Amino acid sequence: MAWEAVIGLEVHAQLATRSKLFCSCPTTFGAPPNSQTCAVCLGLPGVLPVLNRQAILLAVRAATALGCRLEPHSEFARKNYFYPDLPKGYQISQYDQPYARGGAILVDDGATARSVELIRIHIEEDAGKTIHGEGHDGRRSRVDFNRGGVPLIEIVTAPVLRSGAEAAATMRALRQLLRYLEVCDGNLEQGSLRCDANVSLRPAGATTLGTRAELKNLNSFRFVEQAVDFEIERQTQILDRGDVVVQQTRHYDPGTRQTRAMRTKEEAHDYRYFPEPDLPPLELPPALLTDVAATLPELPPARRRRYALAYDLPADAAALLTEEPETARWFEEALAVHANPKALANWMLNELGGLTRGQPLAELRVTPRRLAELIALIDAGTISGPIAKQLLVQMLADGADPARLVAEQGLAQVNDDAAVTALVDEVLAANPDSVRAIAAGKEKAFGFLVGQVMRRSGGKANPKLVNRLLRERLDRAGTAPAGGR
Ligand code: ADP
Ligand code: MG
Ligand code: ZN
Repeated sequence: MAWEAVIGLEVHAQLATRSKLFCSCPTTFGAPPNSQTCAVCLGLPGVLPVLNRQAILLAVRAATALGCRLEPHSEFARKNYFYPDLPKGYQISQYDQPYARGGAILVDDGATARSVELIRIHIEEDAGKTIHGEGHDGRRSRVDFNRGGVPLIEIVTAPVLRSGAEAAATMRALRQLLRYLEVCDGNLEQGSLRCDANVSLRPAGATTLGTRAELKNLNSFRFVEQAVDFEIERQTQILDRGDVVVQQTRHYDPGTRQTRAMRTKEEAHDYRYFPEPDLPPLELPPALLTDVAATLPELPPARRRRYALAYDLPADAAALLTEEPETARWFEEALAVHANPKALANWMLNELGGLTRGQPLAELRVTPRRLAELIALIDAGTISGPIAKQLLVQMLADGADPARLVAEQGLAQVNDDAAVTALVDEVLAANPDSVRAIAAGKEKAFGFLVGQVMRRSGGKANPKLVNRLLRERLDRAGTAPAGGR
């Protein structure tokens, strides 16, 4: 029997607020355990939650960019369960009335584009973090409540994906979008973005869904892909031998690259959901929705298309420059200083990229303005490309102004006919063999002579001028060695 895999994702994204969802505790990552807690997020009696307005704005921004229908009225609900990292004994979430429904993630790898439909997005608070293997005997568990009460959105896709690769591509596209929107920092290692993948199989062509396993808390693109593919294979073997898949929550172990059972999956009724009595319904007034829609930034697919069309860049360059919002911002800042998009793209991606090996642009001593000035010097004929490359190395070391370096080090390009002609004549005189080779039709020797002239000029001669003058001299000399004069 041929099986078809069906995958739906539930992605938790931490909203980039400074304070938590229902109290004013900070959300900074990496603070000492339990230093960012208060009576509200510790669930002490006698306190009331107060909703964080900024969290709602970010949640609405995400849903708007994803094309969701925003509900004018939605409701918070208590999801009850017992776990040490949940001090209240319930999590405040949204249940049958989420704030956003529908919409889609646009997954566009440059070659193919598709929409991955969403079922819903809801707002909820995060739980604390249990750390095992602590204490003098390494057998204690401790709980850090700093993360408890941090605002999340949960983005739920329809069961429409077919492979681990598609699931990972969907996560990538979602991360890129949320980072552009500044809704979520997208830091997978710190858990700001994590994914549960639901996986089931059905006979190819069937329209009903099979029994699923839910793979919890996948925190890298690679793990999403590997875990889903492993799970597809595991379920294929079960079904092939005539057994049935058990509905389960499973954990992926990157070490063994296998998933293993954690617990049987709980049903909604296990959580005894009921409307949160301490919070009023969430109202999203139309004016707020239009405001958010009007202030959305240009999103990655649109920006990529614009770069390719308006700046006439190759598709791969447009994709690389728009991959991260910081890169696009850097490029546009440089472009505002010197409008040569092709050269800028090339220098950013190839020269700068090669010298800095993935170091974040923000950390470089070279600013967008300085790189633009460097390219302006090339375009004005003041310096040659090779000199510009040398200068870039110096600029990376100390952030120097390229025009100042050119003046201080006397690096201005030699554009003077007479000066270059003198160098050409010296080189021709010193290399009679090459001149004869060119006369015999061996064009390779011409490149060698160009290189020699450039060397004698210390890299400063204008290469175009060198080419032209060398050619003229050789033509005039005919087959006779130029050194004969
Ligand atoms: P929960 O997991 O919280 O019970 P849902 O039943 O709404 O929530 O499903 C959540 C996710 O599981 C969605 O992404 C949905 O597409 C996916 N899903 C539901 N049923 C299946 C199935 N049989 N196979 C694969 N994915 C599924
Ligand atoms: Mg689930
Ligand atoms: Zn608090």
